[in-house]
Amino acid sequence: MRPFVYERPASVSAAAAIASRFAAEGVPPTEAAAQFIAGGTNLADYMKLGVARPERLVDLNGLGDRALRQIEVGDDSIRFGALVRMGEAADTGEIKRLCPMLAESLKFAASGQIRNMASLAGNVLQRTRCEYFRETSWPCNKREPGSGCAAMEGFNRQHAVLGTSNACIATYHGDFAQALIALGATVEVEARRGMRKIAFSRLHRLPGDTPNVETELASDEVITAIEVPLGAWSRRSRYLKIRDRESYAFALASAAVALDMDGDTVSQARIALGGVATVPWRAKAAEEALSGKALDDEAAEAAAEAAFAEAKPREHNAFKVPLGKRTLVRALLETRDMKV
Ligand code: SF4
Repeated sequence: MRPFVYERPASVSAAAAIASRFAAEGVPPTEAAAQFIAGGTNLADYMKLGVARPERLVDLNGLGDRALRQIEVGDDSIRFGALVRMGEAADTGEIKRLCPMLAESLKFAASGQIRNMASLAGNVLQRTRCEYFRETSWPCNKREPGSGCAAMEGFNRQHAVLGTSNACIATYHGDFAQALIALGATVEVEARRGMRKIAFSRLHRLPGDTPNVETELASDEVITAIEVPLGAWSRRSRYLKIRDRESYAFALASAAVALDMDGDTVSQARIALGGVATVPWRAKAAEEALSGKALDDEAAEAAAEAAFAEAKPREHNAFKVPLGKRTLVRALLETRDMKV
């Protein structure tokens, strides 16, 4: 690991001020000289591998603002402080009751030890586990822009079939983010120039020609909170994750589903897909296919077909298309049958 300077500011404004001093025009947060660290479960790994090379680490764990560590449950929303740990949110009874999808997406992620360390904001910003990204001897447009993409013709079993580009096909591996995008969450960020809110659906960027630019964040912006609106769909929601083994594995395919039902008919569906796309993936076409329909096997299968209509499989990951469809069908039918 390369040497770095460690700082532990006491306030969000002090953290943002440090990052601002070392920010450079056009340089994304993942390449900035000064980078934020909270749980460290992702960044520390990538520093050891030589993939991330910050000169300065700004540790957010000393920030004094209590709201950063609190979960506030209101009548129409849940607000998560950015430093709330995944395990705490997953185990909060009110969240399990009001919106099971949120708790399940956290519970089925990583290991117990990692969930106890990783912050919610850090979790949504986690970087891909593409093997060629992690191993610095391979060409990788995300790690070294313009160097090529070893995964295109390499072993791409874990890679994405939706949202890919000619530059990058890396999967976004997070689970919580799928629940957040399905539910229409908002992220609050702070910098020296002030605070702003970003719709979660705008936080992550498709790889396009610049897969190294992963989010809309500037390198001096600190995420302070994530707000999730509650609605008629929240209690009838679940997160189904399919993986190679039953724990401590990333999704091969997953589905976050929330339904507002009027009898057998879908008034509103909120659907996101994990393990199959380059960014958290809202399946709008599937939602539209279900709207106003009775949710039976046939309607669920039609929605799954719509969800994967634009899929672009490669040599080793074509299985994700039928697996993703079956995952979504099962999640839809199980969510329909929930007793709420
Ligand atoms: Fe790099 Fe993306 Fe290609 Fe993986 S898929 S090697 S992250 S450019």
